Amino acid sequence: MGARITVVGSLNMDLVVRAPYLPIPGETIIGRDFRTIPGGKGANQAVAAAKLGAQVTMIGRVGDDDFGRAQLRNLNELGVDTTHVIVDPEAATGIALITLDASGQNTIVLASGANMRLTREDINAAQDAIVQSDALVLQLESPLEVVTYAIDMAHAEGVKVILNPAPARPLPNETLAKLDYLIPNESETALLTGIEVADINSAREATERLHEEGVGTVILTLGARGAFLASAEESIHIPGYNVEVVDTTAAGDAFVGGFAVALAEDRDLIEAIRFANAAGALAVTKLGAQPSLPTRAEVEAFLTRLPKSQRLRKSARAEG
Ligand code: ADP
Repeated sequence: MGARITVVGSLNMDLVVRAPYLPIPGETIIGRDFRTIPGGKGANQAVAAAKLGAQVTMIGRVGDDDFGRAQLRNLNELGVDTTHVIVDPEAATGIALITLDASGQNTIVLASGANMRLTREDINAAQDAIVQSDALVLQLESPLEVVTYAIDMAHAEGVKVILNPAPARPLPNETLAKLDYLIPNESETALLTGIEVADINSAREATERLHEEGVGTVILTLGARGAFLASAEESIHIPGYNVEVVDTTAAGDAFVGGFAVALAEDRDLIEAIRFANAAGALAVTKLGAQPSLPTRAEVEAFLTRLPKSQRLRKSARAEG
């Protein structure tokens, strides 16, 4: 049987409009190409993992409205188990109002709605799914107290815990100590450590710092530069892949989903990060969040088509 992954997190509808430039306060401008695209870091990571071949269960909340129904329909079509996505009668489905300008810059206003009404009881109701998973994946678009509760449960049951600390906020030390994998980007790392990630040296310093604070393995994502890994065994830069950038939305979500799947399939850590780098790279070549997430066939084809210099080499540990 394939990898089993449970995701605790947000489900949003992204309301995306393109504009020639970002308006200033009080200004009205004419935009175009309005689209509603399923998003939210939790749902994105669930979809990323499902498209890459895992059996995925989503835990979260939507409102009793059209956006919520659209989210559920979309997840179901992709084979994600939505038994534990609760339809909250008292809050709207989370939304993100996104304006994209011609150069690809954006502004985003997030209204969390039902996402922030997730409770410990919701986690308890999904305990069986969590316990039977190879990995539990979480982000920070849900109440922190509920996120830490789910981490405690998975940790106690020996389920691997992967936290993507986005959007960034300070985390209690006892939570850091229960994380098997922490996957922050550069700005989240800066908030968590106070170290600005400017180059590979500062990436090494910041990831090692987080590892020393008790996180099992830290994987800092570096955009086009790939990722930096710090674990008990090694500190190492794993370069990214060269692709044409269309829209970087959900690159991090593709990476996290890809990493979770590869890990749950018992791949070597470096190989899992290369697989995640490929998923992230493919996601930036397409517009939008979930529609841009690659399938397993796309990632595998991408990795075999790579020029020799970028091809996967099995790490020494995997061979030895
Ligand atoms: P976030 O989207 O959370 O800010 P990053 O920008 O670090 O995260 O991107 C996550 C991952 O996606 C990177 O580690 C890399 O694997 C891939 N990625 C992102 N941007 C690019 C790019 N321009 N070219 C190739 N890969 C990219």
